[in-house]
This record gives sequence, C-alpha cells and structure tokens, in this order.
Amino acid sequence: MPEVRTRFAPSPTGFLHIGGIRTALYEFLWARKNNGKYLLRIEDTDRQRLVPGSLENIVQSLETLRIVSDEGPYWDKGLKFRGEFGPYIQSERLPIYQKYAQELIEKKAAYYCFCSSERLDKLREEQQAQKLPPKYDKLCLKLSSEEVSSKLAAKEAHVIRLNVPSDRIIKFHDHIHGDIEIPSKDVDDQVLLKSDGFPTYHLAVVVDDYSMKISHVIRADEWIASTPKHILLYEAFGWPLPVFVHLPAILSQATGKKLSKREGDVSVKDFLDKGYLPEALINFLALLGWNPKTEQEIFNMRELVAEFSLDKLNKSGAVFDLDKLDWFNSMYIRALKIEDLFARLVPYLVKAGIQTEKYPKEFLEKILLLEQSRLKKLSEIGERVKYFFEEPQYEPGLLCPPARKASAGPPPAEKKSEKETILKNLNSLQIFLQTLSAEKFAQKDIEAEIKNFIESNQLKTGEVLWPLRVALCGLEASPGPFEIIDAFASLPDGKEQVLKRISRASEMLF
Ligand code: GLU
Repeated sequence: MPEVRTRFAPSPTGFLHIGGIRTALYEFLWARKNNGKYLLRIEDTDRQRLVPGSLENIVQSLETLRIVSDEGPYWDKGLKFRGEFGPYIQSERLPIYQKYAQELIEKKAAYYCFCSSERLDKLREEQQAQKLPPKYDKLCLKLSSEEVSSKLAAKEAHVIRLNVPSDRIIKFHDHIHGDIEIPSKDVDDQVLLKSDGFPTYHLAVVVDDYSMKISHVIRADEWIASTPKHILLYEAFGWPLPVFVHLPAILSQATGKKLSKREGDVSVKDFLDKGYLPEALINFLALLGWNPKTEQEIFNMRELVAEFSLDKLNKSGAVFDLDKLDWFNSMYIRALKIEDLFARLVPYLVKAGIQTEKYPKEFLEKILLLEQSRLKKLSEIGERVKYFFEEPQYEPGLLCPPARKASAGPPPAEKKSEKETILKNLNSLQIFLQTLSAEKFAQKDIEAEIKNFIESNQLKTGEVLWPLRVALCGLEASPGPFEIIDAFASLPDGKEQVLKRISRASEMLF
C-alpha cells in the first residue's frame, strides 16, 4: 500500500466548527494508525468569505486539541510552516493552478468562457422560469480557436470552465457510501479558474490532493455532489484517484437536522471556553460516527489511534448529544491529578472574580478537590465554590432540613418548634466548637467530634448536620459539612469563619 497521507483542508471563513474537528481527527487518526502523514492545508481561494483571524484560530484550535499536523501551518509564537509539498495555503499556489488550468485547455477538458455576468444572470432566470436546473449552456465552447485567441489578445475578461461531457455516467467509489453513479448531464460546466486568476475549490482541491500525494480524501458528505467534477479532472489529467471517504453529518439533537451555527455555540473555541477538556472533546467526537469494536468508551489519543478503523464508520448521521459530552467531560475532570486540576480551574476562579493569589494553595486545592467529582464543566467552578470567598446568601427557611419542609404544610406550631430546635442545635454546636482547638477542625477530627456531640446530646443527626452545612455554604446541595470545615481549616482564620457563619445562621433564625 502506498504511504497513507491524509489532509484536513479547512477554509478560513470563521472559527473552526465542531464537525470540522471530527473530520480532522479522523484524518489524523487514520494517518497515525498507518504510520503515514497528516497534512493541514488552508483553502482560502474564496476571497469574499475570508474572515480575519480565522486561520490562526483554526491552527491554534487544532493544536490545543493535539491534532498536530506533520505538514502545513503550525503555531509557534506565530504562524510557521513545515513539509516539502508547500506552500500549504492555496492563495500562495496560484501559478500552480494556472498552469494546470492551461493543461486542461490544451487537453480540451476545459475551455475559456467570456460570458458577462449579465448574460449568466439572464440564462439562470430563463432556466428558473422553465424549472430547469441552473447550468451553463456551453455557448463559449462554440467559439473558434481564432475567436478565442483574439478575445484573449484583447484582454477580454474570462474564466476557464470544465467541459463536462453530456452523455455519460460518472462513477466513483466511496469507502462509506459504496459505488456512486451520477449522470454527467446533471453536472454543470464548473468554473475552474476565475477571472481574477484564482482557482475555484474544485480545481484547487484536485491539483493539491494530487500534488501533495494524498491517499485518502476524508471529508464531510456535503462534498459528494462535487466529487463527479473532481473525477472528471482526475481523468483529464490521467491521475490516480485517492480513496474517498465522505463522513455523515453531525445532527442536532433538537432538530434532527445538520448541526448548524444558528443553534448556538458550535465552534471549538466556545466549547473550550466553557470548560470542556480537549481530551474529553476528542474522545466524544471520535465516537460521533465511529464504532469501536469494544464496549470501551473512554479512549485517550493513543488508544484511539490503535483502535481506529475506516471500516467502522457509520453511514448515517450522528446525533450531537450534549449530555453525553458532559458525561465524558466529567469523567475526564475526575481523572485529573490535583496539580493539573488546579492549573485548569484557577483561571476559571479568577474569571469568577476570586482573587486566588490571596489564599493559601492548600486551601484552594482542597476546595477544588471537593468539587472535582461534581463538575461537568470547568466553568461551573466559580459559582460552586464562591461561598468559600464571600458570605453565603440564603433564605433562613433553608436551614430546616427538607424532609420536614416537604411534609405537606406542617402546622405553624410545629414549624415554630422545628425552627426552635434548629436554633437551639446551632447555638449549642457553636458553643461546643468554640471549645475545640483550631487543629481539631481538620476533617479527621471534626467529624468524630461533631458526631460525638450529637450523640451525647441525643440530637437528631439531620437537625444538626443539615443546618450546619447550610450555614456554611447557603446551598441546597453541596459537599458535606465536615469536608467544608476541613477546607476552611486550611485558612489561618478558618475556625473563626466557621463560627461566624454558624452565628449568622442563628441570628437569621432568631
Ligand atoms: N475547503 C473545504 C471546506 O472548507 C474542504 C473540502 C474538502 O475537504 O475537500 O470544507
């Protein structure tokens, strides 16, 4: 088998879309699996659709996700290039396309077209009126070579069009979709080279895939309809075909249709900003359209390379299930070592307005560890732990355990007595905790001490631990009170803070 060479060929027309990442990932995995090469090529010939900054965004997003190319642009304090088949940016390869367009003219596989845009518009309108598909009518193919020469000499504006034969079936094989046949009468005489000397996508993609020795063209299935034009070009040049692998679309859970930008954030940057881990995104995307042979769901990049196969790609679209992505993300967050967790979460604490530099590392680590198993996204951290950094705000009613509250509208007298019990418990707990040394506030002691206190005073556990926990954090759901106290204990004034919160809760109930 010739060397496997794949390429991801995005157009810099905006931020990298989640579907693009999946395409890039499959190209990358297939190349790595076969000890081949994965290229990044920038297809920027549609000058009107260029979006400034998107080239950098694409290159950087791919690198953040560790889909690192062997050839093409890469980022190292700026855009750099590697590889022997460059330039890897199509706008820097114009003479190459012009030369090949000329070769097609000589082979009569393409022809000059001098039609004005007015004529083309009129033609389209007429075809629309007759309910015919819009197609160029080959008028300029009838020009004699003398007429063409004199128009060229007079520098008349022109394009070069593909000369599509009218009466054949264009066949090609797709690795996922099988044999595909399209009648050539349905294929337009595509413009290959525009009047400004830029190629269209169709000429550039074929020339580059050939020149860069691409063995597998893996791309979104929206390009199937364009492939017959490419086949005609390969044939005209006498070049061998690459293996075509057209990936089914990623579908929106809400609409069942192709995931679109209108449905909110679909750019990789948005996902990363929200606190999805690159490794979780990769794992999730890998399984969005590919079925490994095993039941295993968590794969690191090395395992993906080992398992990946083009034969296990699905034929139908894959639904983008955000809950599943959240699940992957929480699994990856759980697996992080504390140093890594710390490095990834601190920026989100800072973003939430927490002045992390003012607190001991041990304290910050403790509170992050407390939440590690509860986080779905890194961006949730600020909201979850902000009670450690400011007085929690809550309704006094929250201090009463929910089981009591739920017992369908207790009579006011009972409510009053419940409130009194809680108040009494909090008061005596406070007195008890005051007598403990600050060292005893660490989890290993505090849990035993408080349990002892409950037992010796014959109190109900829920009527002590629930209000204590709420007093500390003001939340309906949170880590347990011993863990919270343990985290506070790593602050120099941890004990005071705990006592202050308990007395504030008592005041609220009073
Ligand atoms: N430039 C095309 C795009 O933006 C690439 C299509 C292909 O891979 O051939 O999707």
